[in-house]
Amino acid sequence: MPDAYLPLLADFALEQAETEAIANALGSDDPWGFAPTDPADAAALKSAKGKILNYHLQRHHDQCCYCRGNLHGAGPYMTDREHILPKGKAKFKPYSYALWNLAAACKRCNMQFKGQSEEFVVDTLDVSKFEDGANYLFIHPNFDRWENYLERIEVAKGGKRIVGFVFVSNDPKATYTHDFFHLKDVVMNTFDDKQGAPTQAESNELGKMVLDLAERYHQRAG
Ligand SMILES: [Zn+2]
Repeated sequence: MPDAYLPLLADFALEQAETEAIANALGSDDPWGFAPTDPADAAALKSAKGKILNYHLQRHHDQCCYCRGNLHGAGPYMTDREHILPKGKAKFKPYSYALWNLAAACKRCNMQFKGQSEEFVVDTLDVSKFEDGANYLFIHPNFDRWENYLERIEVAKGGKRIVGFVFVSNDPKATYTHDFFHLKDVVMNTFDDKQGAPTQAESNELGKMVLDLAERYHQRAG
């Protein structure tokens, strides 16, 4: 399994009680929603879920795995425990606690665009392909490095903001991710008060502008 981030998924560890709580949950009809009756088991399952979320946040530097929006200090009302192969579909339930199938996403990306869809999975039946980044049309939060495809640049100063995305790769995953999560809706520039949905070329242009701007701010700060 290729792993695009640190700390490595392979280095993730749980206490024995947490591992057992997950095994019990996986034996139920609704593994992720499973509520153990024993308070100690319930606490162990909750603790395991918390550790999984924190691990994924650490791997993505407290940013959404899809749009790179900030999740630092965002808390549970803005942060979702994202199941890449959706946990609501019976065939994907066995992967409810698979670390490679989990990530941290913002509510916008997860609830507004991702939901229970599986259209981004190339082969939804051959389980041997589930742990292969090539089987996903978008940038996979664990197998693909987001910054190899896109760059999100954000500058805020004096109550004005620029948010832009730069395509750093011609790989179709960059465009698919940009379209699937409607990243053009996140793009904004109040420095020159131009509004409207930019084209991909304009998006790249904006990205360059933001880079220049960020560099100038850095020089001024120095
Ligand atoms: Zn997001």
